[in-house]
Amino acid sequence: MDHNKSPRNFGDLAAANRHAEGHNPLCGDNVRVALLLEDGMVADLRFSGSGCAISKSSTSMMTQVVKGKSVEDAKQAAEHFKRLVTRSGDVDKTVLGKLEVFAGVGEFPSRVKCATLGWHVLEAALEGKETPVTTE
Ligand code: ZN
Repeated sequence: MDHNKSPRNFGDLAAANRHAEGHNPLCGDNVRVALLLEDGMVADLRFSGSGCAISKSSTSMMTQVVKGKSVEDAKQAAEHFKRLVTRSGDVDKTVLGKLEVFAGVGEFPSRVKCATLGWHVLEAALEGKETPVTTE
């Protein structure tokens, strides 16, 4: 979980054309995601905010997985990740790669919200939603 100590793609993205943010009041996690969408692709992205190790690691790895993907593929990855941690359906492991380590979070329902927050914020950014998302 070195993503917690040294998160990837952390900070601001001046060129971003989509922003979203979200909160997990139960744990106190806050995540902001900035996307640069070009030609239907996630050309670049950054995240910022504060939260627990799980929310930071999950969001950090999310940025690595979706960078360079099409908007559709990024949404698919979000769908598969949510299924993985909520154990609510079949998961394509080739889509998720290393994110599979989060499968164990499913045993701890309160932690599922930490793990999925960054992905909910990603989806909001992809859809251009202005209202902050919340896990509650
Ligand atoms: Zn948390």
